[in-house]
Amino acid sequence: MTDSTGGKGPRGPKGTSSDSTRRKPQICSFCHRPSDDVGPIVEGPNNIFICSNCVELCHNIIRQEQRKASANTPLFTTIPSPRQINEFLSQYVIGQEPAKRVLSVAVHNHYKRLTHADTDESDTVEIEKSNVLMIGPTGCGKTLMARTLARVLNVPFAIGDATTLTEAGYVGEDVENLLLKLLQAADYDLEAAERGIIYIDEIDKIGKTSQNVSITRDVSGEGVQQALLKMLEGTVANIPPQGGRKHPEQQYIQMDTSHILFICGGTFTGLEDIIKKRLGRKLIGFASEDAQEETASDHSKVLAQVQPEDLVEFGIIPEFIGRLPAITALGPLDEEAMIRILTQPKNALIRQYQKLFQMENASLEFHPDALKAVAQKALKRDVGARALRAVMEELMLDMMYELPELNHDGSVYQITADMVEGKAPPALYSCMKIKKESA
Ligand code: ADP
Repeated sequence: MTDSTGGKGPRGPKGTSSDSTRRKPQICSFCHRPSDDVGPIVEGPNNIFICSNCVELCHNIIRQEQRKASANTPLFTTIPSPRQINEFLSQYVIGQEPAKRVLSVAVHNHYKRLTHADTDESDTVEIEKSNVLMIGPTGCGKTLMARTLARVLNVPFAIGDATTLTEAGYVGEDVENLLLKLLQAADYDLEAAERGIIYIDEIDKIGKTSQNVSITRDVSGEGVQQALLKMLEGTVANIPPQGGRKHPEQQYIQMDTSHILFICGGTFTGLEDIIKKRLGRKLIGFASEDAQEETASDHSKVLAQVQPEDLVEFGIIPEFIGRLPAITALGPLDEEAMIRILTQPKNALIRQYQKLFQMENASLEFHPDALKAVAQKALKRDVGARALRAVMEELMLDMMYELPELNHDGSVYQITADMVEGKAPPALYSCMKIKKESA
């Protein structure tokens, strides 16, 4: 006979007492739920049982107690200064200087507010939460920036997508699922999760439908905004531990969101026109090719002038904007920025390929024109720096296929622009430059 875990589950000091499972379901001695509901149960001495959920819970309690016991060390002892945060961000994120500054200051103040709340509860001056809104085209570094921030601060980080969220009652996800993701990222350490960072992508997609279309409103869009609103400003949310839709019989984990930093991002297509209209610049029909290029370079300058009222016109409710006091715009990346992204960040793509070659006792070089060609090819795809990886993978695939099979003896391979543009075969034999003296 198999046990309730199919023979693969954990075995307690006396095993999972599989045979008895068939006769009557075991009950967890801690939460009193039957094994039919909670899955495998471990049996201890004297008829004591524990389910996996309660094991997890015990772990967290012990972890939190240990942290308290270890000389009451707060989660944050030192907060990096805005300049330090900015410098750290620059190791990974190319360009986007204004956004980096806004974020560095907002994040520094947010975590300062936390330590302040920890130490001095009598103080009447309350520093407000500084959630951030990042506006910028796809693939320009919004997610990367939020992810890097979480790394510098060493806090749990989760990414959510606003398009999947719907108002309760509709098909989709509850907003609380974002919190669950954070809790999972924190390894179910509630205290750590309550100080984490959540990045909500595509926040522009929950706007009410555009003002000029008709008077009908996207009801669910506004409903999601309302639900998010509470989370953003700080509430005690009930999170279903298993995710999915909430239902009445479920047990919830209560999570306080008042110290969670929310960073929202979106492309806000069409916002530029709203800003231009406000600034009084008339748009003239369809622009010519040249004029379009001009507007692309002006793009960031226009977006940088965004005001809350523009976002209201876009369809975001004013209360929601009020919860995102720091607004910053990111510009599209140009060719030069793309080349820098390929080569400069700590984990730059070129460096990664060079490392792979090194591991095979070979070296890889890129001719400057080749880098330029990769950047131009990626720019044509119109998805920002996200296209770089795809272009590089297409280029390098055949070479990576052959690489481990050959004996390189320190050979140097150079990628040329012709290979990127498809005028020369992207094969190892065609880019071998020299063979270094092997030791
Ligand atoms: P989005 O703005 O759509 O959130 P992402 O941050 O997800 O874009 O960017 C996609 C990928 O492109 C990143 O993982 C990163 O490798 C690269 N990238 C985008 N922008 C930058 C940038 N400014 N500096 C360095 N890498 C970038």
